[in-house]
Amino acid sequence: MRRDLTNLIDGRAQRPAAGRCLDVTDPATGQVFANCPDSDATDVDAAVAAAQRAAPGWAATAPEQRARHLNRLADLVERELDALAELESRDSGKPVKLARTLDIPRAVANLRFFAAAITQWAGESHATDDRTLNYTLRQPLGVVACISPWNLPLYLFTWKIAPALAAGNTVVAKPSEVTPCTAARLAELVVEAGLPPGVLNVVHGTGTGVGQALVEHPGVKAVSFTGSTRTGAAIAAAVAPKFRKLSLELGGKNPAIVFADAELSDADLDTIVRSGFANQGEICLCGSRLLVERPVYERFKARYLERVRGLSVGDPREEGSDLGALVSKAHYDKVVGCIERARAEGGTILCGGTPVRLEGRCADGWFVAPTVIEGLPGTAATNQEEIFGPVVSLIPFDGDDEAVAIANGTGYGLAASLWTSNLDRAHRVSAQLEFGLVWINCWLLRDLRTPFGGVKNSGVGREGGVEALRFFTEAKNVCLRLR
Ligand code: NDP
Repeated sequence: MRRDLTNLIDGRAQRPAAGRCLDVTDPATGQVFANCPDSDATDVDAAVAAAQRAAPGWAATAPEQRARHLNRLADLVERELDALAELESRDSGKPVKLARTLDIPRAVANLRFFAAAITQWAGESHATDDRTLNYTLRQPLGVVACISPWNLPLYLFTWKIAPALAAGNTVVAKPSEVTPCTAARLAELVVEAGLPPGVLNVVHGTGTGVGQALVEHPGVKAVSFTGSTRTGAAIAAAVAPKFRKLSLELGGKNPAIVFADAELSDADLDTIVRSGFANQGEICLCGSRLLVERPVYERFKARYLERVRGLSVGDPREEGSDLGALVSKAHYDKVVGCIERARAEGGTILCGGTPVRLEGRCADGWFVAPTVIEGLPGTAATNQEEIFGPVVSLIPFDGDDEAVAIANGTGYGLAASLWTSNLDRAHRVSAQLEFGLVWINCWLLRDLRTPFGGVKNSGVGREGGVEALRFFTEAKNVCLRLR
């Protein structure tokens, strides 16, 4: 039986006005298991109108009350953790154990974090002289659009809606139509949590059908987007003449840099492997370029390859699977094409490099073996363009300057990690790296208070903590002259 997903507009489950649906496919089996609304501008109009009606009431709601709503929603997501994890895994192909330990707990954390943050957010004021007081009002923007991708569906959906709602905005959100299921379930939980109608609206559909209509809608005051650099550029072009706030979290081509002085324990090696292959490499923060200092290159390569070869690609439902399926046939074709291109560029495939054919339930799924390539210069397309799959390219280097030059030598600048025992080097190189985030001797350690975002083609703006609350509010200065 197929699940029938609906939009959430004005607090009610609604079918798209035009009645069209899209297939939702389980990438591990190739089977369609749900119908997703193929909404259009009419549905977007209805959602924005509902959000506009709800906006004054929600903006006037005390922060503590908004926090209570978000915490109630977090409780419901936590109650459904196992079911949501299974749904996320089925929709995206990721191992269910990853959805259970990363995606859904992080969705809960996002909601709870911004519930707490809004109650602690103090305003600014300045006494200019003994008779003049300036203070800043942080006012909600009104209706905001939140558009999220397929790789961490509920995780990134909640990462946007939580600060937007906490700050007093009403939201029209569009999840990726490739992975719409957990957002659709969250919409049901929003109703159960008692959020007033129209405060959060979820409209499913394609980027061209819903996304475009949403970002261009005259009622939308700000757009928060996470997705590819190409779509980000299209949105920036559409939004710029309308002078609305825009936050873009885009693609990456992240380096992991291993210096010869790094003392790598087995756990460190596991982290470096995870930084390339977690979620099948479909995390914007994954390190797809592994730079290794030449004196330890061969020794490191042997230890690294032994671990990568030990990763198990399998049914996402099985606890033993380290990697599941890629998210869609189209993405699978893209990744396999990138591996072919690496071969054509003269790269040597050290392991993987092939699709994985499973038996039984997953015989028609889209699996790719974790792949390690070497022998390509930093300038090769393989080392320049985002692949967003289980593909890591090994690149030797000599000394700090070359490491920094190679690391910085792409159009992207999202995240870098570096491994060294030399504290001076760690700080010096971190300052020279043109990235929004740098991890030293770790990867994917996140504190939700810290700024999150990229530079160059990886985006504009910062999410996380106060940065997100600033984005989702307008600062108004009020100057008072005492008589
Ligand atoms: P896309 O850019 O294809 O899509 C992202 C979202 O935008 C989807 O909901 C999509 O809908 C929608 N969309 C597409 N076209 C438009 C448009 N013209 N106007 C408005 N919305 C539109 O990205 P993917 O879903 O393929 O996600 C993978 C990408 O996301 C990778 O490049 C990855 O690096 C990046 N990413 C960045 C992160 C960061 O924090 N910097 C975090 C996670 C991922 P539809 O699905 O229908 O196309």
